[in-house]
Amino acid sequence: MHYERFAPSPTGKLHLGHAFSSLLVYNSTKKNNGKFLLRIEDLDFQRCRREFEESIFEDLNWLGIKWDKKPIRQSQRFNLYTDAIKTLWKKGVAYKCECTRKDISKAFQNFDENQSLSPDIYPGTCRPKSINHDNFSVRLDIRKAIELIDSKDLFFFNKSEINTPFEKINVSPETLIKDFGDVVIARKDIKTSYHIAVVVDDSAQKISQVTRGYDLFKSTFFHVLLQKLLNFKTPKYMHHKILYDDDGKKLSKRIGSTSLETFRNSGAKKEDLVKLLNLNQNVWS
Ligand SMILES: [Zn+2]
Repeated sequence: MHYERFAPSPTGKLHLGHAFSSLLVYNSTKKNNGKFLLRIEDLDFQRCRREFEESIFEDLNWLGIKWDKKPIRQSQRFNLYTDAIKTLWKKGVAYKCECTRKDISKAFQNFDENQSLSPDIYPGTCRPKSINHDNFSVRLDIRKAIELIDSKDLFFFNKSEINTPFEKINVSPETLIKDFGDVVIARKDIKTSYHIAVVVDDSAQKISQVTRGYDLFKSTFFHVLLQKLLNFKTPKYMHHKILYDDDGKKLSKRIGSTSLETFRNSGAKKEDLVKLLNLNQNVWS
């Protein structure tokens, strides 16, 4: 069975970029005679609100999207994420980190300039430490993790449009070390992370194709590594183009792009939206 998911975060109103993405997922699901699943990614309890969750349901209803099972909510699945992190501990690829943001930027100032790490890569300060208090995050020791996996198994199939063929993308260990480093897999506050929750839920929901924006293309490299470490199947991926505002900025809630609600309330119809988003060429036939 072909399963896809739409996984919004209830941190604000959905905008036209979300409409584009959700319709692509829906069209792709229909084309493959699959099921459309809805997942509410509400891990960040400081930013997520129930009222935004309600407006997600309303917006999807207006778009004519019907989900095939009861939506799942990540905030109710922390035990699954904890289990996955325990598995990584058992494999010896996790360690505690007590650094604050300030500590990390300070470590960089003292860092050997010859090292080819980019400034947002954690320099590994806490790797050798033994930490005996509760205020820590958990990081993946990326080098140790890679050692456990046959590099031939690090790849995924990807495409950018519904009607184009998949191509194989290799995930090189060097890229993982250079572009990701020892990524946080459990934050101090929520004891899990976006990366862990996504791979756990994609596996639990038996997602066979992940359709999402190209802005997450690079994250997929790290997700493939996590899937291998956790013995999960790697789904196929469609990373679609990102819609841009007239001024060239990515559509997002932060820059106040048109919300779908505003669009709806202006009296526009779904057909107007499909035309506006140039979705016709992506619609299943
Ligand atoms: Zn640290």
